[in-house]
Amino acid sequence: MAFARSFSCEHCGVEVSLDAPGTTHRNHCPSCLWSRHLDRNVPGDRKADCSGGMEPIAVTVRGEGRWVLIHRCTNCGRLRLNKTAGDDNALALMQLAALPLSMPFIPFAADPTPARKPRARKAKAGRGEAQPAGGTTV
Ligand SMILES: [Zn+2]
Ligand SMILES: [Zn+2]
Repeated sequence: MAFARSFSCEHCGVEVSLDAPGTTHRNHCPSCLWSRHLDRNVPGDRKADCSGGMEPIAVTVRGEGRWVLIHRCTNCGRLRLNKTAGDDNALALMQLAALPLSMPFIPFAADPTPARKPRARKAKAGRGEAQPAGGTTV
């Protein structure tokens, strides 16, 4: 054990000290940014029964102008906000923040021919009824 208080990251295997610069409770890996679902209500309460791996899905900024990670539990789906620490992997944070900008934005209005669908269904249903009737006579 390299640190007095530490945990080993279940995602990338790095040994992480619980004492992080800038936060009182280190709750995610500074290397891969993954967390574990251990806290239920307050950061550090360790009351959650889940302990699922929490994937970093986004970065946002709150009140103090600080970057905050949004984690989603891969086990129960719960979302959590976690303050970033001073020694978090800056490149991984930047990649997460830039992810939406690297994807083409597709407006929902681009869905083709939404108004024609009911008519097409009625026409098909009519044909469908006629076909079996014709089939029996032959
Ligand atoms: Zn990790
Ligand atoms: Zn969970």
